[in-house]
Amino acid sequence: SISIQMTGIVQEYPAANGRGVLRVIDGIDLHLENPSINMLLGPSGCGKSTLMRMMGGVRPFNVKTPTQGRVEIDGKECLDQHDDAVTVFQQYANRPDLTVWDNVAFPFTLKLWKGRISPAEVKERVDTILAAVGLADKKAMRPAQLSGGQNQRVALARALVLRPRILLMDEPFGALDPQTREEMQRLLLALCKANPCLVVFVTHDVSEALALGDRVIVLSPQPAKIADDFMIHAEHP
Ligand code: ADP
Ligand code: ADP
Repeated sequence: SISIQMTGIVQEYPAANGRGVLRVIDGIDLHLENPSINMLLGPSGCGKSTLMRMMGGVRPFNVKTPTQGRVEIDGKECLDQHDDAVTVFQQYANRPDLTVWDNVAFPFTLKLWKGRISPAEVKERVDTILAAVGLADKKAMRPAQLSGGQNQRVALARALVLRPRILLMDEPFGALDPQTREEMQRLLLALCKANPCLVVFVTHDVSEALALGDRVIVLSPQPAKIADDFMIHAEHP
């Protein structure tokens, strides 16, 4: 089991005009737990990414984050980036100079160096996840040879190969055409069934939130508070 507890979260950023501050999040309390897909839904600019980044302990260079409040993972305060969470972005950030296989193996580079994982295990894990995302026959290709959907599969594989307990997804399918997007949604649901983890998924698309979410958390426009928070499916025992 895993839990993310956010208490009294406030986030302020320097205002764009250089004077004063912009309060983007104004007192959010949120508790997420166990394998489930949790959608953060709200209009562009309302602070969804800001809230999600805090769960991974990712801090922007220019401000203290959160401005106020506390983020806990399994009851322990999260003050910095941690290994429990990995993030998938819309810009899939695949390395153009590496093959699909090497992109997915990339997160193990340091561990391999330090002898903390064997080459045989890396091979097993990379091959398994590439098969699961449907890219077994694209291993030797490079990102430029792949479609957008396929590149997003590579990014998803690179995240899941680490077997994270928390998967943070920041509008991952936002740039895809509607059909590819639906394929990716189906793939994500299948992957989550096979590899249960706590997913936090940011979107501004209502139908995506309803299609994927076990739970939908709606952020009201700025400064964001939670406007609605509801379960889509009955919880399975
Ligand atoms: P969303 O994910 O809902 O689109 P964001 O969390 O990315 O919203 O951004 C919310 C607001 O905060 C935006 O106005 C954005 O420009 C501003 N913002 C985000 N990060 C920073 C930052 N590091 N410094 C200053 N302003 C920021
Ligand atoms: P989509 O129709 O989903 O947008 P693409 O037309 O980009 O996809 O690609 C369709 C297929 O062709 C994919 O299997 C992709 O890997 C392959 N492909 C695309 N561009 C190249 C290329 N430059 N070299 C080799 N294979 C490619």
